[in-house]
Amino acid sequence: MDQSPFFSHLQCRECGRKYAKDAIHVCEFDFGPLEAAYDYEVIAKQISRDKISARPRSMWRYRELLPIEGEATVGQHTGFTPLIRAQRLAEHLGVRELYIKNDAVNYPTLSFKDRVVSVALSRAKELGIQTVACASTGNLANAVAAHAASAGLHSFVLIPSDLEPSKVLNSLVFGTNVVAIEGSYDQVNRLCSEIAGNHGWGFVNVNLRPYYAEGSKTLGFEIAEQFGWRLPRHTVIPMASGSLLTKVHKAYHEFAKVGLVDSTEFSIYGAQATGCSPISTAIKNNTDTVRPVSKPNTIAKSLSIGTPADGYYAIRAMQETGGTAEDCTDREIVGGIRLLAETEGIFAETAGGVTVACAKKLIEIGRIPRDESIVLCITGHGLKTQEAVAEEIGRPAVIRPSLKEFESLLEQLAATN
Ligand SMILES: *Cc1c(COP(=O)(O)O)cnc(C)c1O
Ligand SMILES: [Zn+2]
Repeated sequence: MDQSPFFSHLQCRECGRKYAKDAIHVCEFDFGPLEAAYDYEVIAKQISRDKISARPRSMWRYRELLPIEGEATVGQHTGFTPLIRAQRLAEHLGVRELYIKNDAVNYPTLSFKDRVVSVALSRAKELGIQTVACASTGNLANAVAAHAASAGLHSFVLIPSDLEPSKVLNSLVFGTNVVAIEGSYDQVNRLCSEIAGNHGWGFVNVNLRPYYAEGSKTLGFEIAEQFGWRLPRHTVIPMASGSLLTKVHKAYHEFAKVGLVDSTEFSIYGAQATGCSPISTAIKNNTDTVRPVSKPNTIAKSLSIGTPADGYYAIRAMQETGGTAEDCTDREIVGGIRLLAETEGIFAETAGGVTVACAKKLIEIGRIPRDESIVLCITGHGLKTQEAVAEEIGRPAVIRPSLKEFESLLEQLAATN
């Protein structure tokens, strides 16, 4: 395949050393993370709003800014999820201009992880890798399993054994090898690093991480395009490893750098569950040293990463942009899920509840102003974490198939409301 004129090399985030575009992810000298680097001058000359607008409505319409050599071969239909104006939720929160970026309806596995896996597996195929794998808190496993199935790749997904049944089922159905580990996500992740060293597989979030992580930028690109080729003033993002947050930050900067948007001020906010909040705790303690959480304890399992790989960079992105982080309890998460559902008709998973609840707090304490544009990133679907709300939302009224019973039910309902 041809060499991309846009994607030039991998580069260490710490020392800037350049590396070949292989299945590698850490610098040999200082163990800094490797990141995809591009020739922005060439991209700026080639790319335009019109050119992008004319392309198919998927995340690949920004392919000049993605780390593969040729055309996408996996996940061609992923992305371009709706950015909706959330009028009723805005009224409830007392803000003027609120939007939901709804990745709960991403194709095909209903979370933003379809983006990262599309890039990682497209690159894995270019590198001739035949078996792909991941350490996952659930959604990544679903996306790897589905995309590997459609690409005809072998796959292994490793997960903590206490995940939601729906997240497990949504991997198994694709015929992948699901391995449940009796331990925390951090232990699963460590095991994956060891396996990657032994087997030469492509672990999307280990040795393919530089490619995987870049996929997250497309969430930011889409927000900017759908917002009318502008940057929203405030963006709230849920954090597990912190990668998505750093990549939306990178995406906004890249769009400005290649001239697709004006370089206007923006702030990025991170959201976590209090039961696993290493990044927001560090921000609140005014330090960039992230203290690991050894026993995460929250219903937001998709965000339960006690040792967040990109925590430090996420903190820097929030501080540089004048943003901050917040966290919320499990009760507040359930409240956030219900609020979003009842005001906007969107059923988000626990991570979405975290985003809504933390945004609500940041607005209430005056940290996010009420009169500027705000985007909330909803990253996964509620059908995968139904147990979170099952006890709270009541049960259907059961009657016999009789008009009389229905009419008396209506009377009862009127009396109780
Ligand atoms: C993985 C995930 C995130 C964030 O992941 P990062 O590791 O911070 O990039 C957010 N929401 C959902 C639903 C996820 O599955
Ligand atoms: Zn380095």
